[in-house]
Amino acid sequence: MKIELVNLKRQYNLHRKKISSAVLRVLGSGRYILGSEVEKFEREFADFCRAKHCIGVASGTDALHLSLKALGIKNGDEIITVPNSFVATAMSISMVGAKPVFVDIDPETCNMDVKKITDKITAKTKAIIPVHLYGQPADMDSILKIARRHNLKIIEDACQAHGALYKGRRVGTLGDIGAFSFYPSKNLGGYGDGGAVVTNNDELAKKIFLYRVYGGKDRHTYLAQGLNSRLDAVQAAVLRIKLKHLDRWNKQRAAKVKMYDTLLKKMPIKTISTQPYTQSVHHLYVIRTAHRDSLREYLAHKGISTEIHYPVPIHLQPLYKNLGYRIGNLPVAETAANEIISLPIFPEMENKEIKYITDIIREFFQKP
Ligand SMILES: *Cc1c(COP(=O)(O)O)cnc(C)c1O
Repeated sequence: MKIELVNLKRQYNLHRKKISSAVLRVLGSGRYILGSEVEKFEREFADFCRAKHCIGVASGTDALHLSLKALGIKNGDEIITVPNSFVATAMSISMVGAKPVFVDIDPETCNMDVKKITDKITAKTKAIIPVHLYGQPADMDSILKIARRHNLKIIEDACQAHGALYKGRRVGTLGDIGAFSFYPSKNLGGYGDGGAVVTNNDELAKKIFLYRVYGGKDRHTYLAQGLNSRLDAVQAAVLRIKLKHLDRWNKQRAAKVKMYDTLLKKMPIKTISTQPYTQSVHHLYVIRTAHRDSLREYLAHKGISTEIHYPVPIHLQPLYKNLGYRIGNLPVAETAANEIISLPIFPEMENKEIKYITDIIREFFQKP
């Protein structure tokens, strides 16, 4: 059996008619960037997140970058974040000239270790970017408490957590501003790049609407240094259709996770613990074992593709050599990076595929 980490064609094939006709409708409309299709999506996604504003942008990276810019983060500022995320989390910080400051993670959830944040705060610290990793909300109450005490802003990196709940509230609206990616393989993904910012803050929303179109108030009046970061109408049309299915797809992911957890129970692996006050949307299904590399090879040999999210913690990337981190500085994240492996998960996965994968994993651990 051949199993991909994420098979996007299955979802398209199930919804082919609706998606194809929406795309054709846009192609026939003569309006391909922003416009009413994007406005409708922005309203619908804001409502979904229970946020006041949603601004569609070109990618998740831009959603983070523009959020930091709207908050006035600049050269010399320090922003606290985690080392075990996609590199874009930290890169958005350096894009505005600020310095990423990495805090270690909790060994059980692999989200930001809130006990270690205060030690990282200096006079230059302006904000915290928690990442809702693998779809599970970070410990937001603790993070918000620290932020309030030290007068820091919070940008949620919700790029893996569309629809996740923290104490009954959607992520993205818990801090000052939230960033989403619609990269094709995300829980809500388009057929190209895309992203969005959500916020309840009118001023921040106004700034992001301005920055995403060259800082132009209208076609000939430029008020600020902006960039070109617009969501296109084809993506918006696709996302509008997919958004209607998102909660159901997230439930299907949860059912796959339950099956994986049950079938892997007696095996010598660790899973990522979920917190009772969160409802993860299971963007990834990650297990941990000291034999990660040989397990990965064994699975590949049996036709099962896997991935490591992420093998090199961001503080050890060549890009950030100048920040002066060394191996051993963030030991929990570094150990995790050597043990984690992401198994296939997507809503359209079949139970027999999970059965096959877990059978192969059992076989691997039973080998002499
Ligand atoms: C995908 C992702 C991003 C970046 O989103 P793009 O749309 O690829 O720019 C940022 N942060 C996290 C945690 C992500 O998973």
